[in-house]
Formats: sequence, structure tokens, C-alpha cells
Amino acid sequence: MSVDPGRQRLRSELREIRPYGAPQLDVPVRLNVNENPYGISEAIKREMLDAVSLHLDSINRYPDREAELLRSKLARYLGHGLSPDQVWAANGSNEVMIQILQCYAGPGRSLLTFPPTYSMYPEYARTTHTRYLEAPRKADFGLDFDLILAMIHAENPDVILLANPNNPTGTALGLAEISRILQMSEAILVVDEAYQEFSSEPSAVEMLPSHPNLIVCRTMSKAFAFAGGRIGYAAASESVVEALRVVRLPYHLNAITQALACVGLDHAEDLLAQVDHLRHLRDQSIARARRQGLDVVDSQTNFFLCGPFADAHAVWKSLLDHGVLVRETGPKRYLRISVGTDEEMERFHDVLTQVHPELVERSTQ
Ligand code: PMP
Repeated sequence: MSVDPGRQRLRSELREIRPYGAPQLDVPVRLNVNENPYGISEAIKREMLDAVSLHLDSINRYPDREAELLRSKLARYLGHGLSPDQVWAANGSNEVMIQILQCYAGPGRSLLTFPPTYSMYPEYARTTHTRYLEAPRKADFGLDFDLILAMIHAENPDVILLANPNNPTGTALGLAEISRILQMSEAILVVDEAYQEFSSEPSAVEMLPSHPNLIVCRTMSKAFAFAGGRIGYAAASESVVEALRVVRLPYHLNAITQALACVGLDHAEDLLAQVDHLRHLRDQSIARARRQGLDVVDSQTNFFLCGPFADAHAVWKSLLDHGVLVRETGPKRYLRISVGTDEEMERFHDVLTQVHPELVERSTQ
């Protein structure tokens, strides 16, 4: 009998786990991973190509291990007087958050989160051998502060991770609510602001000077239309950034990625040019879905959650059969829709009406 050591010798907690990821399908309308549907301009592309060409001249050398130029540009973009020593960058904010847990969580320590929230958080905990704690949100997806306080007293978590605005609900908290969490615990509080540019609530970056246990995570994957470039970053105290430098792999951020992101940040305004339009499309689409008879959660992001469907999976599948890919993230009976272009949203609503005939716009009845 043949033995497969790749399976037999695998850590037991990984044996039944499937790799994380939404289906990557080549369909005409992709509204499933909250990307910016608009590409970058020809002029910026040309500048990026020049930067790549320049870096290819020294591709035999390792990249800048500390990504200094990139971090100085990120600090400038964030503002609030941040210095490059208070900013860290890695391959997507996923990697930044794993590095944070490597520093501040890990075996014998715990992480508190607020579901429904970003589905990678339990994976971060598993990968870093951190105990995963959950304080579920209330029915309106706001935080349940009584429960949070009770859990903090009972469990004394080492890290608290708050997606704000939250994925998949799209809801956002104000700074006063973030302050309440900071008052309850001395844990490291990570505010994951992946969708901040789409929100009308202020960023927690302004709270950094008065809260050395606060870390704000951002990404260039969403508003910046740079998901393929893989740049995430964090703003925090200098000592947090020092700690992150200890756990990062040497040369974790390749020279080409750094160069492309630097050009992107030099043209931040251009890359972010579609944000207002996407917010407008989001609100328009939410209003239309409501007229179609759906319950839609108010969103401060580039996606929205809608339902309830008797069989959300069947609706997901029918949309896909018509070339429209959306996301089944939970909560049960709801689907998450990323905001695409005008044409893509038009197609989404048309197909939804076809596959779900009872969803006829009230205004047309
Ligand atoms: N945080 C949240 C809340 C997200 O939704 C995502 C991406 N879906 C990420 C972090 C990770 O983004 P990236 O690794 O591309 O920066």
C-alpha cells in the first residue's frame, strides 16, 4: 500500500482545509472580489513600464529590503505628519496582518474579531497558531459593546482586529466607537481600513499619536486599482514597525512591485479618480436593488450585501450562468456584489430581474 507523506505527515489541523479563495472564473461581469473595475491610464502605464525597465537593469541584485522610497511615499499619501518609520509595506494587507499577528499574537495568545467579517481573519489565526475569539455583531451589524466588554474581561485578548468599513457588510463605525474599544482594552487594536477611500467616516490614522497600541492597515488593492500589484501597508508607532521588520522575510517585497507602487503613488489622484464615481454607482445600485424588493445594507465600501434570497446559492448560480459572478460570503441568504462599471451594474440588475422574476422594480409596476 503506498503512503503519501504529503498528506500523512501534514499537520492534523490542515488536513481537511481547502485553499482559501473565491472562484477565479473568466466571465464577462466579475463582481466578486471588490476590485476596482477601472484600469489605469495609458500615461501611467507607460511610466510604470519605464520604471520596470530601469529596475531590470539591476534585477541581478536584491531589492531594497526596507522599501524606504515606497514607505516614504505611503507616509506622504496618508498625511497626518506620519514619518516613513511609522509606515510598513508588504505583499497585500493580508501579509501585513499576518506579520502583525506573528509579532503580537501566536501560540498561547488570542485574537478577537467581530463577525460577520472578513473571511481571512480565521485563516490568519490558524496560520499563526493564535486562539480565535468572536464577538458577533448585532442584527444591524453594529458592534455589541456589552458583549465585547464581557469578552475582554473574560479572555483578555492580545490583538483585536476590526475591519472598518467592514467586509462583507459594508458598514462603517465612527471614531467614537473605535475609541470605546481602545478604552476597554490595552490589546493591540488593528483597524483594517481596506475600503477607507470609499467611506465617509474619517480614518483612524488621526488617532495614532494618542494610541500607541493602534495599527491602521490599508491596501492599494481596492480604491487604487492595483490588486494585481499586491501592496498592503500599515501605519503605526515606530516600535510596531520595528517589530514588523523583525518577522518579515528578507527581501519580501520585490523590486518591480515596489517600483510600480511608487509610480502609482506619484499619481495617487489619477488612480483614485474613479472612487467618487464608484461611490455614486454603489448608491444608485443599492437604491435600485431596494426598488427591486431586496433588503440592502447601507455601504461605505465598493460593494454591498443584498438579499434575503430563499436560495442564495441558486441565485448565485443563475447569475453565473448569465455571465455575472458575485460572491457568496454569508450571512446566509445574502449575496455580496462588488460595484463594477455602469454597464456591468446594468447587466447585473437586468440578469437579477430575469433570474429572480419576483424582483420586478416597484417603479415599473
Ligand atoms: N481586508 C479586507 C477587509 C479585505 O476585504 C481584503 C481583500 N478582500 C483585504 C484586507 C486584503 O487585501 P489585500 O491583501 O489585497 O491588500
